[in-house]
Amino acid sequence: MQEIEPRYSGPATVRQSYMTEFTVECPKCKHEAAITVNSPWFLDSGKLTCSYCTHSENATDLIRYKILVKRNCDNCGKLIQKIIPQSREMMDSLAVSCPSCGKTRVYKPRNEAYTQPYNEPQEGLAPVFGLPLWLQGSIRDNLFWAYNRQHLHAIKEYVGAKLRERQTTTHTTMVERLPQFIKDAKNRDAILKLIEKLERKQPTAP
Ligand SMILES: [Zn+2]
Ligand SMILES: [Zn+2]
Repeated sequence: MQEIEPRYSGPATVRQSYMTEFTVECPKCKHEAAITVNSPWFLDSGKLTCSYCTHSENATDLIRYKILVKRNCDNCGKLIQKIIPQSREMMDSLAVSCPSCGKTRVYKPRNEAYTQPYNEPQEGLAPVFGLPLWLQGSIRDNLFWAYNRQHLHAIKEYVGAKLRERQTTTHTTMVERLPQFIKDAKNRDAILKLIEKLERKQPTAP
């Protein structure tokens, strides 16, 4: 009797389809927390909520302003420069004394907005807030991660399938964009084992 090979028949979804929720480590209590976004193309709409310690915050809370005054003194003509690198609030005016002649004037500074995540972007962090993804682990020297349980499940289906045909030619699907070590047949057992371990992972920190 011929054995039927498990064929991958998951949906032809793009990676963004899974980017509406990120399961992460809570910055306060280190247990599992969730970031939800209205749209994967508008991550600044993200909201973090921890059901364990009830901490919550919005991605817009991460916005900071670089306040900058750079001009020549109207008294002595020398350069005046003042920078406040990280302000939570915008500033309409800023009093600055000229370092050369000491004259103090009130200037209208430039406000440059930027987002200050918890960590600089890197592998294994959520693309909003920069918090560590809850579902991650190492396979040899590679970092395996999933945005959330649905994403983890979709990867599991793909890794477990022996036959992988292209599902569509109209776009590149999430599974096609997976890193090579995940697609590599020699890692299949190790990855499935890790995925099963992550599926059992408790929402509380060990
Ligand atoms: Zn928490
Ligand atoms: Zn001056």
